[in-house]
Amino acid sequence: DITARRQAEEEVRRRNRELTLLNRVIAASAAASRDMASILETVCRELAQAFDVPQAAAALLNQDRTQSVVVAEYRTEDRPPALGAVIPAKDNPSVAYLLRHKRPLVIPDAQNDPLLAPVHDLMRQRGTVSLLLLPLIVEGEVVGSLGVDAIEPRPFSDEEVALAQRVAEQVSGVLARARLEDVQRRLSAAVEQAEEAVLIVDTEGIVIYTNPAFERLIGGGQVPLPDQISHLVRRRRIDPALYHEILRAVRAGQPWQGRFTDRTEDNRPFTVDATVTPVRNQAGEIVNYVVSLRDVTREVELEAQFYHAQKMEALGRMAGGIAHDFNNLLTVIQLSNRLLERQVRPEDPLWEHVQRIRETSDRAEKLTRQLLRFSRREVVEPEVLDLNQVIRDLSYMLERIIGEQVELALDLSPDLAPVKIAPSQVDQLVLNLVVNACDAMPQGGVLTIQTVNVTVDEAEARAYMMDIRPGDYVRLSIRDTGVGMDEQVLEHIFEPFFTTKERGQGTGLGLPTVFGIVAQNGGAIRVQSQVGQGSVFHILLPQVQEPPSRKSPRPSPSVTDEAVRGSETVLIAEDDPSVLGLAEQVLRSCGYRVLTAADGPEALRLSRDYEGEIHLLLTDVVMPQMSGHQLAQELLTQRPNLRVLYMSGYADDEIVQSGVRPSGIAFLPKPLTITDLTHKVRSVLDGRL
Ligand code: ADP
Ligand code: MG
Repeated sequence: DITARRQAEEEVRRRNRELTLLNRVIAASAAASRDMASILETVCRELAQAFDVPQAAAALLNQDRTQSVVVAEYRTEDRPPALGAVIPAKDNPSVAYLLRHKRPLVIPDAQNDPLLAPVHDLMRQRGTVSLLLLPLIVEGEVVGSLGVDAIEPRPFSDEEVALAQRVAEQVSGVLARARLEDVQRRLSAAVEQAEEAVLIVDTEGIVIYTNPAFERLIGGGQVPLPDQISHLVRRRRIDPALYHEILRAVRAGQPWQGRFTDRTEDNRPFTVDATVTPVRNQAGEIVNYVVSLRDVTREVELEAQFYHAQKMEALGRMAGGIAHDFNNLLTVIQLSNRLLERQVRPEDPLWEHVQRIRETSDRAEKLTRQLLRFSRREVVEPEVLDLNQVIRDLSYMLERIIGEQVELALDLSPDLAPVKIAPSQVDQLVLNLVVNACDAMPQGGVLTIQTVNVTVDEAEARAYMMDIRPGDYVRLSIRDTGVGMDEQVLEHIFEPFFTTKERGQGTGLGLPTVFGIVAQNGGAIRVQSQVGQGSVFHILLPQVQEPPSRKSPRPSPSVTDEAVRGSETVLIAEDDPSVLGLAEQVLRSCGYRVLTAADGPEALRLSRDYEGEIHLLLTDVVMPQMSGHQLAQELLTQRPNLRVLYMSGYADDEIVQSGVRPSGIAFLPKPLTITDLTHKVRSVLDGRL
């Protein structure tokens, strides 16, 4: 039967054609080096040739499926190009059909079929009469289409459609693979370059990946892989309890987040914020765990520094405020007592009481000073000085403080660079540290005070508590062979009121004061100590270039000195009535003419009404309504020859904002003493500051 045979031959030919087509498409898509567009182009050509049509095109939908763009095409030379053509996808029934049914669509009359209404123009332009549309499906979603255009009426048989569909599936596979590769490429680049340390562990507990950041974090070069996570954890001495907590969580499918500390290969501690996330495959089974670690060491340090600074600030404010008020009271007590002292003879039975008041109020004054110093509100005058000299001067007194049990060793570097700091602050630093050292050596030991020039590099600077720049410093070290401190104590020693000493023995203000002074002078401090091994406190102070200024010896005070008397007119402005009254009495008793005002405006009024000369304005710095500085400025415009002497209990005001007295301004610290007051008034009037 000829017809039957011809049909059979035709069938064989058709199948061959199909196989060839599929093979070619598969070959094209397997060529990994080829880009998507050229693969699609090959597919279009093979489809067109297999179906004997002059054109075929591939289009991909955009992300939000509003339009589809022709990304590849095949056409015989006489056909118009379609590459780049934009097909509206919204409200386009043919696209909607593909999206919904995910099946091929055959349209015999493309230029009139309402399914293609939005693209009738395009169809006419392309001369398309019959159209076969095939969805491209990736992960169950339609991502684009293949179109086979016939330019004359042409039926597409079921076999043809089925064949085309297989081709489309093949293409879909390629698309899916390309997308996956793209995502993987991007992900792995991100992980490789990430700042966060990343570690991937499989369900058997084998570490299968670590990124460069992980290696940087722990140091010591590349991590040999694969490795057992349990070995890694043990080697790194991570707390087993923590490890099991993490394990329990992630095995139950829960991500774990937390912070812990670890040590680098060269034993530097670091802190990380860690996230451990179980990763599941499509079937929902956990296939591995991703550990990501963010190094927060610096952050934690800064946070701690910040909290410490805040706490110091708050306590300083409080202590400073109290000390300021207390100063005023103390000034009254001391001055009253001095006046009393002048009335009472040594043989008087009251003499002893007066002396006791004097001693006690002197002690109270010292305490107030300590509080002010701690609150960093005391006015200090930094000087360029030779630290060695100050320490040598101090050492005579130190010998007496430390007693016979302790041996004092001075190791002072001969060519020590000068530093800029108030001598009284050096006294404070050394005294506080020496007293602590002696307390730590009740059975005796050796106390070493060492000075040396050092060049601090980046790494060493980090070991100090303050943020300092690398550079040249003078290092003052005070070392003892005493009981030492454990980690817990070390953590708290700079906190105000932290003490391990018995009630009445310790105030807990020593080290905070040291800290404050060091910070105020741009220096830094670090402590090294171990229980039973003694302690050493290192203090860095910036080197300065200027040569040390010669210290003028302090005038020795003498209350009844004729040298402090005078007859000039002094205007006192002070809002505390008792301080005002007493300063008035003292100056009167020295022979001065005195005008008193409770505030700035009153002082201005007095000055306006006073016809004689006013030689000196003695004014409080902080007053309600008008500051001492403002008052002085106003008065100076009326009386340009007026001299000004400021007095204040603390440095937190506009004259001495930084806590450091600017030169050229006469200043008298509170509490006022008769000696200071009378001497200073005299020397300002005499044109000496
Ligand atoms: P205080 O001496 O009044 O206790 P500090 O602020 O001076 O207050 O010191 C705080 C704490 O630091 C001390 O109580 C002590 O526990 C510890 N400390 C300070 N210096 C040393 C040292 N050289 N050796 C051992 N412990 C010290
Ligand atoms: Mg102390």
